[in-house]
Parts: sequence; C-alpha cells; structure tokens
Amino acid sequence: MEQSEYNAMCLEQVDNDGVTFEVNCPVCGKKTQEHHFELAHSGCVNAHSSTNCSSCGYHVCDVDGCKRCEN
Ligand SMILES: [Zn+2]
Ligand SMILES: [Zn+2]
Repeated sequence: MEQSEYNAMCLEQVDNDGVTFEVNCPVCGKKTQEHHFELAHSGCVNAHSSTNCSSCGYHVCDVDGCKRCEN
C-alpha cells in the first residue's frame, strides 16, 4: 500500500482507530509511527499509545497484557 493511501485511510478512520504521528525511533533514529488509539475496558474507554519501528524492531506501548512488551 502506498504511504499516501495509508495516511488517507488513517484520517478517515480517526474516530475508530485513533491517530498516527510520525516520530523518530529512540533506538535507531529512523522515522517511525506512534499510534494513539482508544480501547474499551469493562465499560470505560482508555487512551493508549504504541510505537513500532519497522527498521530495528523497537516497540513500546502502554497496553495491559501486550504480548510484545512481555517478551
Ligand atoms: Zn528503530
Ligand atoms: Zn507493547
């Protein structure tokens, strides 16, 4: 998928899937994306964010029970 198509899709789905910001990876310094989204937990909605770097594999998020953070 083209990057521009992906960005357009994110903008269209901002209410459902959150928003994505371009950031620099703290590990390798390459451009990566920080994703902010909301998850519903037992009746209340909580805001979360995650960063995934496709260049070096860096990952961080604040989602409880995230499989990638546990590893
Ligand atoms: Zn990186
Ligand atoms: Zn995680």
